[in-house]
Amino acid sequence: MARKFTESHLIIASHNQGKIDEISHLLVPFKVKVTSSAALKLSEPEETGVTYLENALLKAKTCVDETGLPALSDDSGLEVEALKGHPGLHTAPYAKEHGGYEKVFELWAKNAEIQKNSKASFYCVQVLLWPDGHQEIFEGRVKGKLTFPPRGAYGHGYDPIFIPEGFNKTAAEMSLSEKNKVSHRFLALQQLVESCFK
Ligand code: IMP
Repeated sequence: MARKFTESHLIIASHNQGKIDEISHLLVPFKVKVTSSAALKLSEPEETGVTYLENALLKAKTCVDETGLPALSDDSGLEVEALKGHPGLHTAPYAKEHGGYEKVFELWAKNAEIQKNSKASFYCVQVLLWPDGHQEIFEGRVKGKLTFPPRGAYGHGYDPIFIPEGFNKTAAEMSLSEKNKVSHRFLALQQLVESCFK
């Protein structure tokens, strides 16, 4: 049985405003005070883990150590079939190394392998970590395909080129509520809420 979350305050261990907005939105019904490590100006640890889980734990632990409060972290990535699952764990640094998202979109639009096979999925691992070290772990995956040129003004990161399965618009053409119904983050958080908040 998962541990129930009975505390009044939860820190989202993230400096990514897109993620913070999505997670906060999903936790609104649960009357828990939500703050982020960005808002509290906590440290942003280097993501040196070799798995999503290790990185999620690193982020949650930094946050718990600095506040003494429970933390929820999320480590995620975009896995592109034609790139053999890359950039995956390195999705955030990949964009930086290539000069930003727009540059990656231009590069991928010209990639012959991606033109042949546009399948991709977003994956995420979430960790809810308490100050006594107890942790609950959840994961979510949303399948879809890449499309070029990028479309839509909502969302963040790779949303403008990602069309979730069963849709014909990109995640960046969806409102927050719409995207939250199909995102990898939502799928993980839905299990977290069912297990720890109800
Ligand atoms: P990390 O989880 O902080 O390592 O970052 C994962 C990276 O994956 C983000 O910086 C985004 O570039 C990308 N990413 C994760 N989730 C999403 C999403 O829901 N939409 C678009 N991009 C995402």
